[in-house]
Amino acid sequence: MAVVYDTRDRFLGLGWYDATSPLRVRMLHVGSPVTIDLAWWRQRLETALSIREKRFDPSTTGWRWIHGENDGWPGWVLDRYGPVLVLKLYTAAWLPWLDPLVPLLQERLAPAAIVLRLSRNMAIEAEKQGRRDGTVIAGSLPGDSSPVLFEEHGLLFEADVLRGQKTGFFLDQRENRVRVESLARGRIVLNTFAYTGGFSLYAARGGALIVESLDSNPRALDSARRNFERNRGLRLPRDAGHELIRADAFEWLAAPGASRYDLIVLDPPALAQRAEDRPSALQGYEHLARNAWKRLRPGGILAAASCSAQVGAKDFFQVVQEATREGPRLARVLETTGQPADHPACFPEAAYLKCIYLLKAGTRR
Ligand code: SAH
Repeated sequence: MAVVYDTRDRFLGLGWYDATSPLRVRMLHVGSPVTIDLAWWRQRLETALSIREKRFDPSTTGWRWIHGENDGWPGWVLDRYGPVLVLKLYTAAWLPWLDPLVPLLQERLAPAAIVLRLSRNMAIEAEKQGRRDGTVIAGSLPGDSSPVLFEEHGLLFEADVLRGQKTGFFLDQRENRVRVESLARGRIVLNTFAYTGGFSLYAARGGALIVESLDSNPRALDSARRNFERNRGLRLPRDAGHELIRADAFEWLAAPGASRYDLIVLDPPALAQRAEDRPSALQGYEHLARNAWKRLRPGGILAAASCSAQVGAKDFFQVVQEATREGPRLARVLETTGQPADHPACFPEAAYLKCIYLLKAGTRR
């Protein structure tokens, strides 16, 4: 723990010190001196829980309980997937606190299991302290195995809580998936960077004629297929068409191909990890949007998202609008969106997720 003073040696606050991170100190508290004990953590936990409790109806059992520094828990993310909690840490400073804090989570949230996920930068320090990524640190997983099943707006999904990306699922796109569902009726849909098929299932439930899920990772596509099949005939029409495409999305979209889609989702991983990646990330978004636009029929819709904290919403929207310009005319913007309320943002860079919906001119078939 670091105690932070101003230049005149006056107490400013307390934070986690991490010599290995560009974020040297992650502030826990600013203001008058406090004692950081279990009661203090309990109160922080209650504040975070109160934002999410009773927010979701029973058809949604996956959400973010704690969103890092935005909830006063810097470098600590806690997601719920049905009966399982996944705790992802981004700084080794938390490790000595696991022993006292894990029982607090058990007592308050009564999960079947708590899984620990660790960011790559802290793996060595964690190993020294006997902690490893993708381990169950309390209780046991249902059936003693991953993936774990949970529901999102009535659709059943699996999340690989031990090895999946982030904590196993991209909960932050929940509301954009609902929008895509509402736009999908009668459309041929291409979901690029599909991961485990989140947008694909919603599009199918919304009445898409056919959905194609494209990803470069075969394990993600296997999971997308399983997710689709476990909802078929229940929440998805029995005859809903779903095709998998294993490809590099940049290359696949750039290759010549017919303009056969009525709705395309572009949801790449963060293209800018650091500030210096910003120009190449913007080029990447531009390239994707330009080529996706070519694959849309008249009257088609492009939903383009970015989760790069390093790229602001204004720049992202501008670059996508330029890429989809037709002569002097900009495409019509149907909507722009950000991140859902279980992913609050308390400083500008924390508003990392943005999405723009654009309509291609022309009459639909
Ligand atoms: N839209 C998804 C989340 C996308 S995560 C959802 O709603 O759940 C980003 C995905 O992009 C990952 O599945 C990753 O495997 C995939 N990916 C990364 N680089 C890629 C590339 N060049 N081409 C295709 N897929 C890629």
